Amino acid sequence: MIIDLASQVAVVTGASRGIGAAVASSLASCGAHVVVNYRESRDRAEEVVAGITGSGGSAEAIRFDVADEEQVKQAFQDIAGRHGHIDILVNNAGVSKDALLLRARSKDIGEMMDTNLKGSIFCSFHASRYMLRQKSGRIINVSSIVGMGGNPGQSVYAATKAGLIGFTKSLAKELGPKGILVNAVAPGLIETDMTRDIDMGSLMEGIPLRRIGTPDDVARVVAFLCSSLSSYITGQVLVIDGGLYT
Ligand code: NAP
Repeated sequence: MIIDLASQVAVVTGASRGIGAAVASSLASCGAHVVVNYRESRDRAEEVVAGITGSGGSAEAIRFDVADEEQVKQAFQDIAGRHGHIDILVNNAGVSKDALLLRARSKDIGEMMDTNLKGSIFCSFHASRYMLRQKSGRIINVSSIVGMGGNPGQSVYAATKAGLIGFTKSLAKELGPKGILVNAVAPGLIETDMTRDIDMGSLMEGIPLRRIGTPDDVARVVAFLCSSLSSYITGQVLVIDGGLYT
């Protein structure tokens, strides 16, 4: 059994680095044309595209800030206009600005809410307009185990990731009858720029699989959720954490 996403158009937000870059490569290797979204890291987004096209896949890099609804609307209009359809949306773009609540800066609180939560809502809104016309589509939201179990110093980040779970479940109920499946993944500790400053060694003991996750560990599960292999799964949160949250 293989995952075949040939002729599908997938938009992956925050795909210039880390988990998003791995998801973009994974979906492209399954045959999808992938829109590699970025906000600041243009060179890295172009590298992701070059890696995909160099392996025989199809991709393009597009800049938009998921937190800016006008930019999101314009981007999805352009993508749908050029390709005629949007089949997959992976809401991956995210930021974490860790601080104990009483030390949290209002600017950082706003950025996490605007990017992680409102950004995913804006993208889902604009992508689902096209998916509804097609009567098919997949939306995958990248949440976190922190949104399920909490973590000191990450209360605002956790709120955005928990919010994404409620959003996923509600949207799955709204869009299921229209043929659109909505799920979330909840990664644990994954080795990316976001976790670069964490002392991984001290956390290893708590992970039954005794290793930090890789972006590919997450990307494979996202590909499964985009494929016909998961055609009867919606409104779910798949935890990808080596057993950390168990
Ligand atoms: P990362 O390496 O820091 O990459 C973040 C990505 O998000 C970058 O491509 C960045 O693009 C993009 N981005 C940030 N703000 C954006 C905006 N306003 N508009 C568009 N793109 C934006 O992070 P990561 O570790 O791969 O995390 C990816 C997702 O997984 C996030 O939602 C994160 O919360 C979640 N997650 C990560 C872990 C982990 O352990 N790493 C665990 C659980 C959940 P530019 O560089 O171009 O700005």
